[in-house]
Amino acid sequence: MEPKVSIQEGWKVLEDLTINADQFQQKVLEEILKQNAGTEYLKRFLDGQADKELFKKKVPITTYDGIKPYIERIVVNGEPADILLAEPVTAITLSSGTSRGQAKMMPLTNKQLDQLTYCRSLAMSAANKFVDGLLEEGKQMQLLFVRPDIYVPSGLPARPILTSYHKSKNFEKYESSLYTSPMSTILCLDSKQSLYCQFLCGLLQRDEVVNIGAVFASVLFRAIRFLEDYWRELCSNIRTGRLSDWITDTGCKNALSLMLTGPNPEQADLIEAACNSKSWEGIIKKLWPKAKYIDVIATGSMAQYLPILEFYCGGIPVVSMPYASSESFLGINLKPFSKPCDVSYTLVPDVAYFEFLPVKDYNEEETKEVQSDVKSDNDLTEKQTKKEEIEPVELVNVALGQCYELVITTCTGLYRYKVGDVLMVTGFHNNAPQFQFVRRQDVVLSVDVEKTSEDELLEAMTKAKLLLEPFGLVLTDYSSYADVSTVPGHYVLFWELNMDASSDLPEFNPKIIEQCCSTVEESLNYLYKNCRKGNTVGPLEIRMVEQGTFDALMDFYISKGSSVSQYKTPRCIKLEEAFKVLDSRVVKRYFSQKVPA
Ligand code: AMP
Repeated sequence: MEPKVSIQEGWKVLEDLTINADQFQQKVLEEILKQNAGTEYLKRFLDGQADKELFKKKVPITTYDGIKPYIERIVVNGEPADILLAEPVTAITLSSGTSRGQAKMMPLTNKQLDQLTYCRSLAMSAANKFVDGLLEEGKQMQLLFVRPDIYVPSGLPARPILTSYHKSKNFEKYESSLYTSPMSTILCLDSKQSLYCQFLCGLLQRDEVVNIGAVFASVLFRAIRFLEDYWRELCSNIRTGRLSDWITDTGCKNALSLMLTGPNPEQADLIEAACNSKSWEGIIKKLWPKAKYIDVIATGSMAQYLPILEFYCGGIPVVSMPYASSESFLGINLKPFSKPCDVSYTLVPDVAYFEFLPVKDYNEEETKEVQSDVKSDNDLTEKQTKKEEIEPVELVNVALGQCYELVITTCTGLYRYKVGDVLMVTGFHNNAPQFQFVRRQDVVLSVDVEKTSEDELLEAMTKAKLLLEPFGLVLTDYSSYADVSTVPGHYVLFWELNMDASSDLPEFNPKIIEQCCSTVEESLNYLYKNCRKGNTVGPLEIRMVEQGTFDALMDFYISKGSSVSQYKTPRCIKLEEAFKVLDSRVVKRYFSQKVPA
């Protein structure tokens, strides 16, 4: 069966899926169990039986840590993958999730790639329904990239899921013709040459472009900043019909030789006129006048890029279509043109079996986090155990307005696996619930695709703090903030220091704090360091605040209703007003001076 659904058929398929959501869910689970009940992992709980009720009763809800030993046996020891899943594994997916500082590794199968093609074509159909035949008429300027493969000891390539997808036959066969970027520019491993050439192709076809996008809002934002630096050169290439000499990648050169066929001074003049204005407000609309929407994920941690993207868009709506993870494609936004703050996703009921663990309402949780005062490790364990005892509910049984942690079972060896996302039910399409993305369960800081958990931050701070001790300096309190007003975005730590309980801090060598910045960076996860090397995350900054700043922060939270006795410093600042309390008391700023190894 072809995994691709045609744009015309897609909406009908979505209607059927959402009307019969429960039947599709039961069927998915049946198929997964039929195929995988004999795996070593499931045999432990099901004794070889492909029984749905037994599955729900016996198979424990788990996290990445639960499957990690199996993954390691496959990846490191080269054991057959059928200890975890029946289908052959074609590659290892590296996910950006936080797992004690390392990228998570997951098996990838051909079926998962087919599911991706299927879901992406459903998402395109949903967008197309609201812009009336648009996608069939024009081209999409999607800025897409791949990462180099690494090889795990068992010999399998390991890479992000979208790299696998863009390199796949499915992508070439079913999607590549929809985009302005030729395959070889997407597959170019030098991201600068790749982006330059993708822009060149997008500008050369600017009158055909019906949407502009990238996977995440952060990627498009960075791309526009790149365009600010390179538009003159791009114009010159278009004007003369000659590609810049620094484009040396053979694939890019060949692709462009077919597109940049001769001088085009008229087009170059038009582009130059648009780019040469003092303000870049509305630049996207000026450069691609027929674009109907901007296709980027701008929900969750990506919402921080919305205001700046809207500035560039000139009124073209920003549309977040997919909700997906390395583990599985998850959902589609069936009302693409709703306001960004109202975007909800409908989980696709025939790609994975979904369960939902009820959690407290977001605001309640956040207040609780601010207020909670966990007195001992026992309290914490007790709290966690209570949480684990909560029974999950199935897709069609979720309640409107309730928040849930998402648990998935897939054909790729994830059984009752917590994705780590908290979702809130905002409505229903036919019988299928729609969810707003609320937050990642464990992430406090996020710039670009990087995610850092509170545990990781704490561990990094503990190491950095040690550097202060020989100088009699004591870190009395800290918090953090993801600053995306800089390009690239970077993490900021607010530090309040004390020396021997005196209220005045003496002068000290700035190198000490710069070293602390580097030590924190060294302790953060693999992806953070990769992003720093690739300059998609900037040097970490410590902003030293004056004495008493964290008292002022506490006063602020208390004025907002926190209890004095239970107050706990928030380790990441998200409220603008709280940020101002800290930032208005900054006395000095220090930056990491080296890229972490
Ligand atoms: P990764 O596995 O590294 O691709 O990251 C997947 C995670 O990105 C998901 O579990 C979500 O936390 C986040 N994510 C993906 N799509 C969306 C979306 N549309 N809105 C908000 N967050 C998203």
